[in-house]
Amino acid sequence: MSATLATASYIGATILFILSLGGLSNPETSRRGNLYGIIGMAIAVLATVFGPRVTPAGYAWIIAAMVIGGSIGLYAARIVKMTQMPELVALMHSLVGLAAVLVGFANYIDPAASAEFQGAEKTIHEVEIYLGILIGAVTFSGSVIAFGKLSARISGKPMLLPGRHWLNLAGLVVVLWFGWRFIQAHSIPEGMLPLAVMTVIALLFGIHMVMAIGGADMPVVVSMLNSYSGWAAAATGFMLSNDLLIVTGALVGSSGAILSYIMCRAMNRRFLAVIAGGFGTEGGKPAAPGAAPAGDVSPIGAAETAELLREAKNVIIVPGYGMAVAQAQHTVYEITKLLRDKGVNVRFGIHPVAGRMPGHMNVLLAEAKVPYDIVLEMDELNEDFPGTDVSMVIGANDIVNPSAQEDPASPIAGMPVLQVWKAKTSIVMKRSMASGYAGVDNPLFYKENNRMLFGDAKKMLDEVLAALKA
Ligand code: NDP
Repeated sequence: MSATLATASYIGATILFILSLGGLSNPETSRRGNLYGIIGMAIAVLATVFGPRVTPAGYAWIIAAMVIGGSIGLYAARIVKMTQMPELVALMHSLVGLAAVLVGFANYIDPAASAEFQGAEKTIHEVEIYLGILIGAVTFSGSVIAFGKLSARISGKPMLLPGRHWLNLAGLVVVLWFGWRFIQAHSIPEGMLPLAVMTVIALLFGIHMVMAIGGADMPVVVSMLNSYSGWAAAATGFMLSNDLLIVTGALVGSSGAILSYIMCRAMNRRFLAVIAGGFGTEGGKPAAPGAAPAGDVSPIGAAETAELLREAKNVIIVPGYGMAVAQAQHTVYEITKLLRDKGVNVRFGIHPVAGRMPGHMNVLLAEAKVPYDIVLEMDELNEDFPGTDVSMVIGANDIVNPSAQEDPASPIAGMPVLQVWKAKTSIVMKRSMASGYAGVDNPLFYKENNRMLFGDAKKMLDEVLAALKA
């Protein structure tokens, strides 16, 4: 493939990536967005493999690597459960980081690559290598820890070392100092020491940074690491003088940063406060698991729930992580259809961090064929709860916790939540009185107008559906 054709393919792939991101911003266009992304990536890979910078001698290696990597990716994507998606994403970010580190080192020790640059260009190239490895190492170790925390292999509690900000600052100073030494080095062996020291510090920093972040802030961290992995790829693009990698990395980096910002707003957290870590240790204590109940709860049965739904004019359903675990979305759809056929106005309220990944609930409801126009964002219907007859919470907990707004000492104080308790009756469907992801007690359960429908969401909804049909 000629250089001109490769460049034209790169431009085509870039346009497809931008269209893909545009498509992914709306559930109705997201399938098309995904398709653009797949086509763009196929073009990008083909144009790179058959482009002018790969010699035919390298084909066997590349194809072997693609078959191995592709098979692992395909297998992982097939077996992963929807609720494990954030873990898989974290693990994949770690691979991007690792790739940036390995490409950085390979590029530095490759005599052909270093002979290509002289003077100022050489310095710029070395800065690219240094930054690429730095960001890549932080992304790698941070993502491995995020994977450990999300999969509960590592405790979700924030680990706060004494003087941790000073430790980070000291690390930064050492990294800057060794960066200077690296650029001053006259030979590759001389430059290897500062590079290796910086890599170790960056790896430790990545571990320290994510260990200090508490469970409830993990979604923001995963999205932030997504952003880092983009910047690591962009730095690799500079190293390899590959324009497509630079643009793609910048797209991933900036969209990850925007998503982190949106999520921080949804949790009323300042981005810097999340990064500084320590969630759950300031401004109050999380309720210990099994903390004494704050009052009595009123249970309700499936038949009575069906009765309330049948008599309602307006119903808002708030799904959460438990709906995903129970795989109850199809029954939710059946109930919705039945009620809508009877003239009940049923809508869904989606919190930006409901479930275990951004858009988790939208994906499940779309899979169950719930019409998009009745699936609304939190801000679009939070005002409507006072005029609602029944708000039905299905396996959600933190995102409907009134203490976020009523108790300044709560660890989730200030997080915007769906105000389900303002409806005439709220029904919470879950198996027990256990707390949610953030580990805090939920005063909603004890409110006078709240009823608890205890049991597995799928089982209970099946019973409600049967009662509605009867
Ligand atoms: P929560 O984790 O707060 O609560 C889920 C509730 O579902 C639990 O209290 C559990 O109670 C119940 N549940 C579990 N399994 C079932 C089942 N089979 N049937 C019925 N109920 C069940 O979820 P939310 O969606 O309300 O909030 C999301 C939380 O996750 C937030 O704290 C958010 O910060 C965090 N998070 C979000 C991510 C994202 O990107 N969206 C990523 C990572 C974390 P019980 O055991 O009693 O049944």
